[in-house]
Amino acid sequence: MLKNSSIDHHHFSKNRNKIAPHIVIIGGGFTGLTAAYQLTRQGYRVTILEKEEEVGGLAGSFNVNGEKLEKFYHHWFTNDKYIMELVKELNVEDQVTYRPTRTGVYYSKNFFKLSSPFDLLNFKPLHLLNRIRLGLFVLWVRRIKNWKKLESIYAKEWLSKVCGRQVYQVVWEPLLRGKFGIFAESISAVWFWNKVKLRGGSRNKNGEEMLAYYRGGFAALAECLKTKIDISGGEIKTNVIVKELIVEDNHVIAIETSQGRVNADAVIATPALPIIADLMAPHVNAEYVERLRQIKYLANVCLVLELNRSLSKTYWLNVNDPNFPFVGVIEHTNFESEKIYGGRHIIYLSKYLLETEDLYQRSKEEALDYSIPYLIKMFPEFNRDWIVDYHLWKARYSQPIVLNNYSQLIPETTTPLNNFYICTMSQIYPEDRGTNYAIREGRKIGNFVDNQIKLTKLGN
Ligand SMILES: Cc1cc2nc3c(=O)[nH]c(=O)nc-3n(C[C@H](O)[C@H](O)[C@H](O)COP(=O)(O)OP(=O)(O)OC[C@H]3O[C@@H](n4cnc5c(N)ncnc54)[C@H](O)[C@@H]3O)c2cc1C
Repeated sequence: MLKNSSIDHHHFSKNRNKIAPHIVIIGGGFTGLTAAYQLTRQGYRVTILEKEEEVGGLAGSFNVNGEKLEKFYHHWFTNDKYIMELVKELNVEDQVTYRPTRTGVYYSKNFFKLSSPFDLLNFKPLHLLNRIRLGLFVLWVRRIKNWKKLESIYAKEWLSKVCGRQVYQVVWEPLLRGKFGIFAESISAVWFWNKVKLRGGSRNKNGEEMLAYYRGGFAALAECLKTKIDISGGEIKTNVIVKELIVEDNHVIAIETSQGRVNADAVIATPALPIIADLMAPHVNAEYVERLRQIKYLANVCLVLELNRSLSKTYWLNVNDPNFPFVGVIEHTNFESEKIYGGRHIIYLSKYLLETEDLYQRSKEEALDYSIPYLIKMFPEFNRDWIVDYHLWKARYSQPIVLNNYSQLIPETTTPLNNFYICTMSQIYPEDRGTNYAIREGRKIGNFVDNQIKLTKLGN
């Protein structure tokens, strides 16, 4: 264990693979991969333990006609600077593609394009003055710097006050409800401020939305990180479930996994907090574990359809109709060409929900049967024969629920176990979770653990 170990940090960087401390990272999502990339470059021995067959976590992929596609729709904003810095550093900048995207809203049985300020001016469900008010709000939000003032205000209160009742009811309320369900009215204005700021800022000079993607999908970037980790001597073990921490003298000395024991000098945990709470519970006081459980998460279900034709011209369709069970219809192949997937058009139907809700429990066949009548209501020409194949992906911990004064709920990186560190998407704040921030936090925790190790050594 690190505290009493004879490993000398000043030596391992010269003679690294023999005597460097061994850092174990639980989880091979983008946080874990970036932390491993950072630490292997600094000369540490690193092992990632990932329970799934492949790395990528929530940004993980599956095969469509031999090509990798994200299980849950993914893109970047043009202002996602940590991604852009990483791809530059990895020398793969040319793999990032930027494209204008068509966004829209389904409201009151009609489709409205909402990609540019001009579209907003034509958005009939709002009175003209309210369209202008909404446009001004989006511009104003981008200039707000002091988000702390919003911490104790509910998004509902804030949006109704600043945008007015009609804008709230037509535009924002359905989105809040679609995303957070029964928690909609408890969501903090900070979450909304950040979402509007990010999305509103990802635009070209004509004000049209621009988004970014990676050739070969997010899986190709994960693969690139994997290769770098590999070259630097790191190890990635997939299909390995972390079951238990082996703790001595308040230090984690090893990790018990489904594939045996792995010794550790320090551990970084990246899964959702309830998973970390379960692992820590036998070793720390109950009060601390309860604190970890304070942040709640929503689950997500994505029904992915591979169609033999396109559903619409829109990439991102917000469903502002409470009678439709999905919050968004995302036609990925209106962003990345269908040619890549052998001519198949990819549609995601996304729903955030509680894991106890009916849809989360359903099989893929049941989920499809349930969804088709709604799809037909929306796209009357849609026919079941268009479906070439389909998939259902579920994530239990997909979105932390950002309540008022969320900053007070976020756990520290350090824990009561001296060499056990927490770095998860629920700690990303005031921004919301996303691979851009997973990369920022992965780097940060890498540097933090490096410093902690140096400090401990100096203390010896
Ligand atoms: C529907 C949806 C859409 C999204 N869209 C976007 C988008 O467009 N752009 C974007 O940038 N981000 C998007 N995100 C968010 C993004 O996917 C996440 O923020 C990011 O992938 C989180 O990475 P992470 O490594 O922190 O966590 P995770 O990806 O959750 O990684 C944690 C890892 O820990 C593993 N694990 C858990 N328990 C154990 C155990 N006991 N033993 C071993 N391993 C374990 C998990 O399998 C997982 O791989 C989206 C997310 C969802 C759900």
